[in-house]
Amino acid sequence: MKYIDEFRNPEIAKKLIAKIHNSAKKLPEQKTIMEICGGHTVALFKFGIHALLPEKINLVSGPGCPVCVTTNKTIDKSVWLAKQPGVKVFSFGDMMRVPGSLGTLADAASAGEKVRMIYSPMQAVDFAEKNPDEKCVLFGVGFETTVPTHAAAVLAAKKLGLKNFFLLSAGKLTPPAMHALLEDEKVKLDAFIAPGHVTTIIGADAYKFIEEEFKKPCVVSGFELCDLLESLLKIIDQLVNNEHKVEIQYTRTVTFEGNKKAQEIIDEVLKVADTNWRGLGLIPKSGFKVAEAFAEFNAETFFNIPDFSDEEPTGCRCGDVLKGICVPEECGLFGKKCTPEHPVGPCMVSSEGSCGAHYRFG
Ligand code: SF4
Repeated sequence: MKYIDEFRNPEIAKKLIAKIHNSAKKLPEQKTIMEICGGHTVALFKFGIHALLPEKINLVSGPGCPVCVTTNKTIDKSVWLAKQPGVKVFSFGDMMRVPGSLGTLADAASAGEKVRMIYSPMQAVDFAEKNPDEKCVLFGVGFETTVPTHAAAVLAAKKLGLKNFFLLSAGKLTPPAMHALLEDEKVKLDAFIAPGHVTTIIGADAYKFIEEEFKKPCVVSGFELCDLLESLLKIIDQLVNNEHKVEIQYTRTVTFEGNKKAQEIIDEVLKVADTNWRGLGLIPKSGFKVAEAFAEFNAETFFNIPDFSDEEPTGCRCGDVLKGICVPEECGLFGKKCTPEHPVGPCMVSSEGSCGAHYRFG
């Protein structure tokens, strides 16, 4: 397959489904495959792929939505900052509606606090340049795909000599979370569908530990119907043949080395640190903080931010959903107290969250 219509071609899809069924017949028992990318979660539901698979394949969603894995404490920090005089917080849209113990950024905005929704971190830099009397904080939530843009914004602020631009860094690294899941005895996984866009930046070599240490298959997938089916077929074939290697299905954008330029920008501005994930707890070397060389742009140290609690909303099972231990429908609040219009937890807020995807497509 080379052109986009081929990746959406129903005839090719039918052949792939037949091959999946044929191959899966040779599996000795049911196998659990986790996708760890919110884009994949939505695409799998949108194309109805769960219903097309044989019973021996159990697909589960992992912590692939950056909004969902951002802790209460981090959300509270952003809302607290928005409440400070002379401070404006810049956030991507999905993050605006995630509730923390101080409410949401959207609540703060409607109460007259200074919050602005952005599409690019450079909008925050631009605003800071034009409004030198306002302290502008970029709420940097995201995985390795987005993190280079946080770093680039800091570099741009430095180049402009800005003294009123700050980064509240909540960026996260995907491979350490995959490592933590494979080490967790409660989480039983046989293979990963690895994220396409994240891997474009970090390169598929970042998953070598999955084949070497855990001896499991891992296939980096694209987002179209036939991309996902082909990735599943590659995984099932590996499982049948007792193989365990990292493969790239999404060859039109992903390499084993990744995007060196983006990696350099990240390495220059940010440093890797132990970080808390919602549902997964503290994971070593799984997040990004502002490096010492750029300390003047670090919101965490510039502002005297209080320590907030990391408690989950009562009754919310986002933690278990993010680990693939339960499906959203097993949460007592799903579709009752918790809906996309009135979300209780982040997995229902985000367009890429599992609960939101189950509610809309399940
Ligand atoms: S349905 Fe709502 S309350 Fe339940 S786990 Fe999902 S987000 Fe949390």
